[in-house]
Amino acid sequence: MTNKMRRRTFLKQSAIVTTAAALAPKASKVFAAGSTAAQTNEGNVESLIARMTLEEKIQMLHGANRRGFIGYVPAIPRLGIPELALTDGPAGVRHGPGTAFPAPVALAATWDRSLAREYGAALGAETKARGQNILLAPMVNIVRVPEGGRNFETFGEDPYLTAQIASAEIRGIQSQGVMAEVKHYAANNQEKDRLQVSAEVDERTLREIYLPAFETAVKEAKVGSVMAAYNKVNGTFSSENTHLLKDILKGEWGFDGFVVSDWGATHSTVEAANNGLDIEMPGDKYFGQALLAAVQQGQVSQATIDDKVRRILRMIMRFGFFDRPAKIGPINYQAQGQVARRVAEAGVVLLKNEGNVLPLDVNRFKSLALIGPYADRATSGGGGSARMSPFNTVSPLAAITERIGDRAILRFLKFVPGTDLSKSDPATTGAGLLADAVQLAKECDLALVFARDFETEGVDRAAITLPDEQDEMISAIVRANPRTIVVLNTGCMVLVNRWADAVPAIVQAWYAGQDDGNVIADVLFGNINPSGKLPVTFSRTREEMPVAAAEQYPGLNGRGLYSEGVFVGYRHFDKNNIAPQFAFGHGLSYTTFDYSNIKVSRNRIKPGESLTVELQVKNTGRREGAEVVQLYLQDLKASVPRPVKELKGFEKVLLRPGQMKLVRLSLDARSMAFYDVTKKQWNVEPGQFKVMAGSSSRDIRVSAEFEVVS
Ligand code: BGC
Repeated sequence: MTNKMRRRTFLKQSAIVTTAAALAPKASKVFAAGSTAAQTNEGNVESLIARMTLEEKIQMLHGANRRGFIGYVPAIPRLGIPELALTDGPAGVRHGPGTAFPAPVALAATWDRSLAREYGAALGAETKARGQNILLAPMVNIVRVPEGGRNFETFGEDPYLTAQIASAEIRGIQSQGVMAEVKHYAANNQEKDRLQVSAEVDERTLREIYLPAFETAVKEAKVGSVMAAYNKVNGTFSSENTHLLKDILKGEWGFDGFVVSDWGATHSTVEAANNGLDIEMPGDKYFGQALLAAVQQGQVSQATIDDKVRRILRMIMRFGFFDRPAKIGPINYQAQGQVARRVAEAGVVLLKNEGNVLPLDVNRFKSLALIGPYADRATSGGGGSARMSPFNTVSPLAAITERIGDRAILRFLKFVPGTDLSKSDPATTGAGLLADAVQLAKECDLALVFARDFETEGVDRAAITLPDEQDEMISAIVRANPRTIVVLNTGCMVLVNRWADAVPAIVQAWYAGQDDGNVIADVLFGNINPSGKLPVTFSRTREEMPVAAAEQYPGLNGRGLYSEGVFVGYRHFDKNNIAPQFAFGHGLSYTTFDYSNIKVSRNRIKPGESLTVELQVKNTGRREGAEVVQLYLQDLKASVPRPVKELKGFEKVLLRPGQMKLVRLSLDARSMAFYDVTKKQWNVEPGQFKVMAGSSSRDIRVSAEFEVVS
């Protein structure tokens, strides 16, 4: 057998294992802050503190080595204080093999708060069953640069969407008696030089773009802990940044939980201790003996130590860890797997569907070419601390083979990545394979191409085009067969300008988790009507993006200038009137929706007042589908430059064919405000405001106005 033959597999049929129907995760007691029980616990916390030695207190303020644990704070048995076991992470519980959930970017693409809560509850349940009590998730850093190696771990470019999804996920995690740890506070938006780069960001931008998700996590979702980022913010490491930790987080927002440093992100003893860090992770370099000595020498006060211990004990009590020490239990993989699959399904974004090429009807084609370097492997997730080892995965090849059965011929060609098509020997390597792929596409009625990238913590992507000459592959295939469908498994936006106009259908499936293949096959064959919307803008070119100069990214002399200000993502494209390839909020369905009758509850309000917006949405197509109604706001007359539109509300509505629903969204005072740096507060200025509702940020269907009068 030649190499070429070995690489090529022709398949007609194969059996696959599908996820069995399973129980929904149990919603148990909600362990939220601010309850009466929590208040009465304060007395117990104080009496415990009074009984602790200084050494015992210090022991609680840093991590200790324990094999198999990502983060660990030992128990103090003398006082009945339980251990803290911290584990990653945002896309599954990294304490051994487990459920690989779709990447957080896919969760954001669902625009569905109730699914985000279920995702969180499933993560929480698995964390608990693994004998862990703190989950290092969610990650809420805004996608600022497209290269960002961790973009797949976050919820996209918009602070409101990020805050809403994060808040629901945290509530879900914490409903299981597990503490969430929201990360990385703050402005941790690139991997390049991540351990020392300083995000040079002005106060208004910080408040309006980079902090809202943390603020909502604290104020609304009552998150128990916050992880301080690796990077500096305005010259000071996040883990010793008084402005971030003391003034804003613990001061203004009233956060009464504790702050943990990212792993190795502590850089000092006295500064970090006095400026608001509570726990060093994963070791004791600064918060062990050195902290004890600093207290003995009077550089850090007893009161400061007590404040840290109080925060930790308060949370241990609030989350019930005293009565329920972490212990290993049974894991309901079926239930968790079902949540993972439903989230992945709801997060798939149909980017393009010219001539309704999709969904595929297996009775309408005789042969299908399946081409791609990884179509025979599931793209379950990205790398780094969010990496998961799933027990089972389903590849696109397996799932599509099963859907087609013997009703058509499926021919698969595994295009080998990394082959330099221009240089290689056409007979045996890349170009030869490309010729095979082209030939195969020509011979089949339809070509289905799978392309992907791999994002990971620690490194940014070198380029935001598809790696490994996959662009050449797609371009050549669509030239050979115009009935080509491209499925993308990427962690964030990629440049698709070389072939997007020629390809009639494009599906964005992100890193879809363990059921990648099943989810994609269900969308392609119409078992699922896609309803995901982009949480990031797809630009036509790299240069047209908001962060394009080296001083902005990766930064010069250790400083990354956030000079684009609040004009991140679609705010930049709107301001500069640049047409994106695919807009923020974009996503098609196999049905169509009509918007009408937008009304604001009041035409005139005073600063500080709220109002509601109502509109009607109708399914005008022939099949059931879900639409994400997006509400954007514009301040028409402002004393500071404000975005042309900002997302301030959304609702996902499921509609049967012909069904119409009334959607009601509220706009509170904060949604109209900008952060006023002179007044040091949120400010709603009098004047005219425009509300716009639509199917994407560039597909506004109805609008109305109201006035704020002084
Ligand atoms: C990452 C965190 C992660 C931690 C523990 C760090 O490198 O930045 O997100 O939670 O490692 O694995």
